[in-house]
Amino acid sequence: MATLARGVGLVVALIWLGPTAAGADASLVEHAGGRAMGTSWSAKWVRGNGGEPRAAIEQRLAARLEELERALSTYRTESELSRFNVASAGEWIAVSPDVVQVAVLSRELARVTGGAFDAGVGGLVTRWGFGPDGVPAALPTEREIEARRRWVGSATWEVRAEPPALRKSHATVALDFSSVGKGYAVDALRRVLREAGLDHFLVQIAGDMWAQAGGSAPRPWRVAVEQPGAPGEHAARLLLADRALSTSGNYRNVIERDGKRFGHVIDPRTGRPVDSPLLAVSVVHGSGAESSGWATGLLVLGADEGLRLAEAQGIAALFQLRTAGGVEQRRTSKWREIPQ
Ligand code: FAD
Repeated sequence: MATLARGVGLVVALIWLGPTAAGADASLVEHAGGRAMGTSWSAKWVRGNGGEPRAAIEQRLAARLEELERALSTYRTESELSRFNVASAGEWIAVSPDVVQVAVLSRELARVTGGAFDAGVGGLVTRWGFGPDGVPAALPTEREIEARRRWVGSATWEVRAEPPALRKSHATVALDFSSVGKGYAVDALRRVLREAGLDHFLVQIAGDMWAQAGGSAPRPWRVAVEQPGAPGEHAARLLLADRALSTSGNYRNVIERDGKRFGHVIDPRTGRPVDSPLLAVSVVHGSGAESSGWATGLLVLGADEGLRLAEAQGIAALFQLRTAGGVEQRRTSKWREIPQ
């Protein structure tokens, strides 16, 4: 008999190991955090950095996250994105500048990854059981996959900045910003913290983080990337300064049917979940939004093609693959330049 179940698991593949010795005692670190975007978020900074009390900063961070969820979530029927997804073809749907920025970046990522990253996978994500509707009674048929796949791609929708709006060419077009949206949110939170006067902090939403390393005497943050399937084992330890780190994994957020596992990252070219030995890709970048989108796009491309593209584009990326002997790590030359 067929069984369909969705594996529930945290997507956190980034582990904070504390401020470096050149920084402060870990006991002096302030924490803020909570739940948002279906996962947990946190911010850490050294006590006394910035003028505002901890609770006031936490409130401002939570308010900005709420604003972004109201704009970018596919899990809220009233969000700007959800309203666009159910709209008719041909009509400009008013959205906020946040949606425009994420949409513009998503189109650029689709271009540079040759369509491996594509926000237009919304309909496929939902039908495969990784969206707001939960696990379906049955997996999609070939016909259903093709009916959604043909409306994926930047040619099927438009974005404009003045006034900010989105428009689609067919009612079936459905966007999903779950990948780049969390990285964009990390960038937004980093701006809130900077506005609060902080110059040394770490902010994280699930697998996306930003490390701000201080002004005149930079103090990097020590972080680690988890090895898939080996909690406590670190595939990499890094010193991060004014950089984002994002990890996209294909081994935790899965559905199972008759012993076969399907991950939540969809290959837009086939309309099916990515099926490859690549377990996770981590990217370090000067933008959280871009690091999260690159991690997802490279995961779709796989270890060989992904590594070639990342190398050609100067992306710092770590690929973790399942092999007969365990988990193998491959790094681009930019990744090898990051201090450890
Ligand atoms: P990532 O690799 O960073 O992103 C993968 C996700 O991107 C997939 O799950 C899919 O949604 C999408 N995707 C799949 N294939 C592609 C592709 N080829 N190109 C581009 N995108 C692709 N989750 C909940 O369970 N409940 C919520 O209420 C909820 N609200 C959210 C609100 C917002 C604003 C955002 C941004 C996300 C929300 N999420 C919610 C989703 C959740 O936070 C995670 O994004 C999701 O579980 C997968 O993230 P990841 O970091 O593991 O993977």
